[in-house]
Amino acid sequence: MTPPLAVYVHIPFCTVKCGYCDFNAYSGMDNLKEAYGAALLAEVHADTPLLTGRTITSIGFGGGTPGEVPASHIRAVISAIRDNGSLAPHAEVTLEANPGTLDGPAFEALRAAGVTRLSLGAQSFHADELRFLDRIHSPEATAAAVQTARTVGFESVGLDLIYGLPGQPLEAWTASLNAAIRLSPDHISIYALTVEEGTPLARRVRKGEIVPLDPDAVADLYEAATGLLGEAGYLQYELSNWARLGHHSRHNLVYWTDGDYLAIGAGAHGYLDGERYENAAHPRDYIAAVERGAPAPRPALASAYRPDPVTAMADWFSLRLRLVEGFEPPEFADRFGVPLEDVAGPCLDECAAAGVLELGPRVRLTRAGRLLHGEVSARFLAHLQNARAHTR
Ligand code: SF4
Repeated sequence: MTPPLAVYVHIPFCTVKCGYCDFNAYSGMDNLKEAYGAALLAEVHADTPLLTGRTITSIGFGGGTPGEVPASHIRAVISAIRDNGSLAPHAEVTLEANPGTLDGPAFEALRAAGVTRLSLGAQSFHADELRFLDRIHSPEATAAAVQTARTVGFESVGLDLIYGLPGQPLEAWTASLNAAIRLSPDHISIYALTVEEGTPLARRVRKGEIVPLDPDAVADLYEAATGLLGEAGYLQYELSNWARLGHHSRHNLVYWTDGDYLAIGAGAHGYLDGERYENAAHPRDYIAAVERGAPAPRPALASAYRPDPVTAMADWFSLRLRLVEGFEPPEFADRFGVPLEDVAGPCLDECAAAGVLELGPRVRLTRAGRLLHGEVSARFLAHLQNARAHTR
């Protein structure tokens, strides 16, 4: 049986480029939106051979800010995917939007277009923190957006929050969390602020204008969130994600469980039959590439590679460990044809002895280990690389 397929659609436009953001996102490119919408449709049509015969279980509109383009563009893309593939009857269709940018009719148009799930970039409920992050909305706008989304009838409404801002006191973070909980969203994602190379934030840090929060303090904020969200009835299912029962992101689960996903849009990443690939990143290059390359599949392809076995195993392990439930060791053996114990037994035992990994019918990070996911993943990769070097 052909495995199901998820489709990721990248919308690279933002009103303002936030100082901490290193996503493939651009401000001041409104003049490209029409041509971009047409290119998305041309790419979906060109990818018909990749969609045919697959059941599409989810579509994720990410960015950038997908809420920045007219709902008619979103509707056209969903219709094109439905016309060229087989969209499952209860497919999840998620769209990321920023509070304060969409009014009631815009929400209604998105709902009518087939979007089932809204993910709102709340980030903080403090005006000064929002200003620091270059966000253009107010805490009140987030509350209004949740209310409107509910009125319009979205099946699932989620909020994203950022923690670990320079100097952020625990009380400020828990106040934001509590404000989010009071709005009763179905899903809450929390992300630590990271200083990404090449961003204005990184330049300010280098100049000494900003001092990043100490990692121990960041860990305390994460711990506080784990406690508060759990007490409020949210189930943590992934390192950064909590949901009410039945409201986890089915689309993102595809990424974490080695599923196939098709990439549509500028700089979008895809994963098909064991090959990872990426589209041309700049919206202008993407539009030109689609115009040149369609109707052949993947007309905007910029690069593709098939991970070697060690990389594939390490990617699989690292992604699976992001899930709180972890995985059953036979799943690894089924995927790679070799028992997990044989490729990484000593490394896993060390992590278990250090109290960060639980071994047994399921392999998963302990609660303390959730803060050390990067280290555990790096250790696993290093172990596999060493073993390979010694067998050469
Ligand atoms: S709105 Fe989101 S994608 Fe756009 S610049 Fe800000 S952080 Fe980046």
